[in-house]
Amino acid sequence: MEYRDSPEEARFRHEVRTFIRENLPEHFISPEYDEYQGPRTDEERALLGRWRKALGERGWIAPHWPKEYGGGGLTVSEQFVFNEEMAEARAPEVGGMGVQMIGPILILYGTAEQKQEHLPKITGGQVWWCQGYSEPGSGSDLASLQTRAVRDGDDYIINGQKIWTSGAHRANWMFLLARTDPDAPKHRGISMLLMDMRSPGVSVQPLINLANDHGFNQVFFDNVRVPARNLVGEENRGWYLGATLLDFERSNVRSSVALRHTVEELFEYAREHRKNGQRAQSVAVRHELVDRMVEANVSRLLSYRIISMQKHGVVPNYEASMNKLFYSETQQRVARTGMKLIGAYGLLDRDPKWAPLRGRVSHTYMTTLAMTIAAGTSEINRNVIATRGLGLPRG
Ligand SMILES: Cc1cc2nc3c(=O)[nH]c(=O)nc-3n(C[C@H](O)[C@H](O)[C@H](O)COP(=O)(O)OP(=O)(O)OC[C@H]3O[C@@H](n4cnc5c(N)ncnc54)[C@H](O)[C@@H]3O)c2cc1C
Repeated sequence: MEYRDSPEEARFRHEVRTFIRENLPEHFISPEYDEYQGPRTDEERALLGRWRKALGERGWIAPHWPKEYGGGGLTVSEQFVFNEEMAEARAPEVGGMGVQMIGPILILYGTAEQKQEHLPKITGGQVWWCQGYSEPGSGSDLASLQTRAVRDGDDYIINGQKIWTSGAHRANWMFLLARTDPDAPKHRGISMLLMDMRSPGVSVQPLINLANDHGFNQVFFDNVRVPARNLVGEENRGWYLGATLLDFERSNVRSSVALRHTVEELFEYAREHRKNGQRAQSVAVRHELVDRMVEANVSRLLSYRIISMQKHGVVPNYEASMNKLFYSETQQRVARTGMKLIGAYGLLDRDPKWAPLRGRVSHTYMTTLAMTIAAGTSEINRNVIATRGLGLPRG
């Protein structure tokens, strides 16, 4: 199979490429910029602001949202083209969880007041949202969560704890799941609430990861009052809101393009680095590099498969799990091969002078460990493929 654009897709691809060429600040394409860390200087923040403004003017901060809510109103295949081109250009993402997660839920289930208050700020890039789902005892088995929300007059009072909350230290708002009926079966006693992070009783404690980055946090609630008007959908129906995706392309093409970019960088390093005129890497490492390139291409094909299903109106199911499982495990294999290639230099963490590829290999080696846990662990994805894809009985 060869994936080709339809004439409309080709036209749209050209439009996106032209937009990127005219608006993406070059700084973001240079190795100076570390997307994982985000902007670190005033200059980087200003550049990112410029990029966000240009995207926002076209509704492209939220490309999959309907136009009436400030989105781009793109079809799934246009979203795919858009995401593929953004990834090829290494353009930074600006939407975050507001665009990807809570915005679509509010569009479908929010009150008029909630939409009016929150959606324009999300598409305007003015607020940062975080997701308060996981708890110390509840990750894969999320429905067992214990954080309580008890109705008290016009408010809910929240007590409990969330963990692994990405970006909570920067977030203005959190959408959270809390138990509102402890006596109901576990999926049926959960509600979704919108919480202002400045509410009294909220405390955020950093969790520093293996690579010394501050990405996620623990969040504690001590008698936090959340107005009852911030309940999303019906009380005790919060569990069922999580699956909302609008007409969202699910190919994750960005990740597969990023994989290929990393492998290409490793090839370039292998070509340039020689000892006494000889190649520096062993035959085994060369073969591994080739395997990684094959895998990066397979990952892209899995993305194409998903988009082709969606284009035909089929909702991807276990195929999305296959895709996530494969690219996240390939990310780890790529990082391991990279470490073998650069050898002892891999011990240098982002040392600008000596660390090859500005330390990205060793950094990726450490950060990709989390990729097979976040957004569904490899084991859970294998369970989904086994039962829904292969028809095996539940274990
Ligand atoms: C980088 C990163 C960012 C994250 N950001 C957020 C965030 O912003 N908000 C948020 O709410 N959460 C976030 N999470 C949490 C994430 O959703 C959970 O870590 C994930 O759901 C796994 O849950 P757990 O950590 O409790 O592990 P557990 O569910 O306790 O799993 C432990 C181990 O047991 C295995 N296991 C569990 N159940 C089964 C089963 N039925 N069959 C076979 N094996 C099983 C798992 O695969 C895993 O290996 C983030 C996690 C990471 C790593």
